[in-house]
Amino acid sequence: MERLYYKLPYVKEFDGTVKECREGKKGRYEVILDKTAFFPEGGGQPGDTGLLDQARVLDTKEKDGQVIHFTDKFLEPGTTVHGVLDWEKRFENMQGHSGEHILTGLIHKTYGYDNVGFHMGSEEITIDFNGVVEPEMLAALEVEANKIVSANIPFLVSCPSKEELEQMEYRSKKELTGEVRIITIPGVDVCACCGTHVERSGEVGIIKVLGMINYKGGVRISMLCGMPAFRKLNGYEKQIGELSVLLSAKQEKIVETVAKLKGENQEKDMKLNKLYQTMFETKAEGYPVSSQPLVVFEKDLEPVQIRQLCTMLYEKNKGNVVVVCSQKGDTFQYAAGSSSVDMKVFSKTLNGLLNGRGGGSSLMAQGTFQAEAEAIESAVKANA
Ligand SMILES: [Zn+2]
Repeated sequence: MERLYYKLPYVKEFDGTVKECREGKKGRYEVILDKTAFFPEGGGQPGDTGLLDQARVLDTKEKDGQVIHFTDKFLEPGTTVHGVLDWEKRFENMQGHSGEHILTGLIHKTYGYDNVGFHMGSEEITIDFNGVVEPEMLAALEVEANKIVSANIPFLVSCPSKEELEQMEYRSKKELTGEVRIITIPGVDVCACCGTHVERSGEVGIIKVLGMINYKGGVRISMLCGMPAFRKLNGYEKQIGELSVLLSAKQEKIVETVAKLKGENQEKDMKLNKLYQTMFETKAEGYPVSSQPLVVFEKDLEPVQIRQLCTMLYEKNKGNVVVVCSQKGDTFQYAAGSSSVDMKVFSKTLNGLLNGRGGGSSLMAQGTFQAEAEAIESAVKANA
């Protein structure tokens, strides 16, 4: 079987003869051709999609040395079919894969780390390394990678003999059987790879790092290249534009403006809490000191305020158990506090009776009840 994608990765259309077509899983057919330009999933690069005559190629995978096209229609063995790749998608995969080699090559050169995981998703490409990369160094290597893109360096493909391979220095050196393809970016990287690549680095367009997290003792870097990177950055730009309008701030002042708003908000919260404190103190004066349970109903309080009022009431001994409930829709949010009864046990009992959720410490519990006010009141009185 002829692999046209290796001869020339830019083959978008071709004619091939159907050698086999068998019924597979989920109503799909598995088609084998005498030659194909469809790249089968491998080495982190997704399989190609497209058309074989009227049949949609949903995925392409390699099995037992054969390229299997998963189609939605039966294709008669012996007939010639016209194949058309979803070229935009495949070219974006080439941009991403080649960009990955550039960045990985630079990281390998700098740190000696290996790429231990590579995945090309629809939203981002992730690369895992078996060591820690400093963010400042990654930023510098990202710039370097884009300079290599601009320099329009060729990607060279070779298939050295076993003896030649033994003498060679390259990434992903494993005991591989059969032909090993070596992708060389002169001065940047030499790597064994089964994927499809652009002919020159300029076609990658842009290499954009999107983030880095610690992962399995090393790091996972997410990135995008070419058109997918452009779309992502376009989306960010749109969001920044919308934020700028919402905040009535210039784009370059957005962070400053949000930080300022956050500060102002915190200040308002503090003022509001002080007001609530004063209001709750006045409210608490209205309740006599008692060794009986006390249930208080409020409306639209935040959980922090419910807790604030509850704490104040039980600390002032306005009840052996104090439950403050605040209605929000058809739910009551509650805080239950006591210095004599275990609130962990108490809240568990009440949750069971009142379709409730939540818990807490022996002094205070918080959660929600889905019950009528009367039911809450009698359940508290019966169990406190
Ligand atoms: Zn590769």
